[in-house]
Amino acid sequence: MKVALNTQIFLGAVFGVALGMGFAKLGPDAAVSKQGIYFCSLLSNLFMDLLKMVLVPLVFTSIAVGVAKLRMHGQLHRVWLSTLGFFVVSMALAIMLGVAAANLFEPGKGLNLDLFNNASPNFAAKQMSFEQFVASFLHGLFVNPFAALAQANILAIVMFALLLGIALVVGGDRYRNILLLLQEGLELMLRLVGWIMRLAPFGIMALLAQLLATQNLALLSSLAEFVAVVIGTTLLHGLVVLPMLLLLIAKVSPLKFFLGAREALITAFATSSSSATLPVTLRCVEQHLHVKPGIAGFVVPLGATVNMDGTALYEAAAALFVANLAGIELDLAQQLIVCFTTMIAAIGAPGIPSAGMVTMMMVLQSVGLPTEAIAILLPIDRLLDTVRTMVNVEGDMVGSLVVQRLSER
Ligand code: ASP
Repeated sequence: MKVALNTQIFLGAVFGVALGMGFAKLGPDAAVSKQGIYFCSLLSNLFMDLLKMVLVPLVFTSIAVGVAKLRMHGQLHRVWLSTLGFFVVSMALAIMLGVAAANLFEPGKGLNLDLFNNASPNFAAKQMSFEQFVASFLHGLFVNPFAALAQANILAIVMFALLLGIALVVGGDRYRNILLLLQEGLELMLRLVGWIMRLAPFGIMALLAQLLATQNLALLSSLAEFVAVVIGTTLLHGLVVLPMLLLLIAKVSPLKFFLGAREALITAFATSSSSATLPVTLRCVEQHLHVKPGIAGFVVPLGATVNMDGTALYEAAAALFVANLAGIELDLAQQLIVCFTTMIAAIGAPGIPSAGMVTMMMVLQSVGLPTEAIAILLPIDRLLDTVRTMVNVEGDMVGSLVVQRLSER
């Protein structure tokens, strides 16, 4: 009997969770757990390495070919505008949701953590180090393409591929061989992705087993309220807000969407990396959700690096949580600064595990919140990262359907 890949992946995820809980119950020092976790780490690394292996050539060919095709159909302008418009609007909605939930539930209020006992006196509305961030972000956009390719610097690869795609079309027929080469390169990469996906059920099982076996549950329960608010609100965004946008703008049934998007969503959950999931996302969007390759090849890789709804929501909520922990009241103006910086921070975060934690520093600094708070957030981050990465990837897929619809008009 041939079981569909989707079902295999789902079973792998369930089995992985059960296995991880088993290891956790036995304790990390038990021989079985040690062996099991070691074996899982081999398997999950293999899966992640394979995905990362195809990532760079895939992003590069997909964007260059995507742009070239859009230009040919005279759609580039519209696709650009609707893509950026959708990214900004969906991230703004996510941030508003995060801020509203944090104001409503006030997680962390009254929770007295030693770390912050000295923080409040130092509090002053500090000048943002935001300028530095913007400067380094802009500086990182255009890089020697060979260095960018070698270092898997995705944002710089995206920028170079965009320009190359435009040049290919402006140059027209003269460059048809190079365009053909890139097109065939893209097809080859997608073929490799198809092979790698056969390993996905095992890779996902191993990733989830490892995650559950190594969680610090005691710490988690002391921050349970915050964790619940973040996960609840992120799911609200993923299950209500994004599907509404999908239904209202793209006129696609959410049920159909989730059925087609399953593989990518589970992979995002297990890998906590939009970039590593990208090959799977692209496959789902083109093959199951029937987005035209030109549009998918442009929106999805760009989205994987800049469009992060889950990260935006998390960072906004976490900043207010830290303020509560430190007993600091943020006024409306300061909350607006948090929202704005969060948007930039989410755009700037690369699609790798816990990237949001790094750019979180900038959000805290923007209103002078104690950056030591990272020490509290870090141990629970791996767990929260699963859900937010899933919603990040969902946003990219919804985006490609919305953009397809808008550019048809
Ligand atoms: N892990 C997230 C992603 O890859 C980024 C983050 O840390 O928020 O989309």
